[in-house]
Amino acid sequence: MMKSEQLYEGKAKKVFATDDPALLIVDYKDDATAFNGLKKGTIAGKGIINNQMSNRLMQRLERAGIPTHFVEELSERETLVKRVEIIPLEVIVRNIAAGSFSKRYGVPEGKVFSAPTIEYSYKNDELADPLINTSHILALQLARADEMETIRRYALRVNEVLSAFWAECGVTLVDFKLEFGRLPDGTIILADEISPDTCRLWDSKTGEKLDKDRFRRDLGGVEDAYAEVMRRLCGHGGN
Ligand code: UDP
Repeated sequence: MMKSEQLYEGKAKKVFATDDPALLIVDYKDDATAFNGLKKGTIAGKGIINNQMSNRLMQRLERAGIPTHFVEELSERETLVKRVEIIPLEVIVRNIAAGSFSKRYGVPEGKVFSAPTIEYSYKNDELADPLINTSHILALQLARADEMETIRRYALRVNEVLSAFWAECGVTLVDFKLEFGRLPDGTIILADEISPDTCRLWDSKTGEKLDKDRFRRDLGGVEDAYAEVMRRLCGHGGN
């Protein structure tokens, strides 16, 4: 597969066209940002871990019946994916209060919900990704009602599959962010990445944070946390 022109460079990834218009190559970087780009840094080796972890989790989700953009891992940092039109929403599922939820509602971090919650943010850097509800999504024509039903169903199913999987690795899936896209025929599939950049992952026994909060909150041991969570995943057969 020939990598051709770079289409996009984001905070953590570069995206390249290929000689097949239906396929793109994603190249994961070690760069990290937080707080809408205000905090910048690098996490050595992160790109490799995020690429490999995301691919393993996406393959597992495919087997559970959730369509994803994953096609083939090409190298340590590069993956061939299906080209989609990204729906500009961050779809956030939470099992335990943390981060912006705790701050917004004054709930201590660590409060376990009786059922998972789902919320959406409008992906828009200028507006700092504001929280948005389904009726506003429809008003802005970001997605149709039937598409939102599919997204909601997939997101909650992803939570079931990944929560169970991470639990087997001794890791609690606290919350995570997904992005979905449309194939040319309109099919909704899971896109972007699933990694310690986009999930909160806590050691099930000690509660230790094994995700990007170590970077956001200057907790130290950032590289070690990413390596540890990858080791746990691989220790569990990798798939
Ligand atoms: N998240 C993400 N990208 C974002 C915002 C959030 O991947 O731009 C993830 C984050 O890593 C966490 C979950 O979504 O796993 C919920 O994040 P939250 O809304 O608590 O925001 P934060 O505290 O990270 O600002």
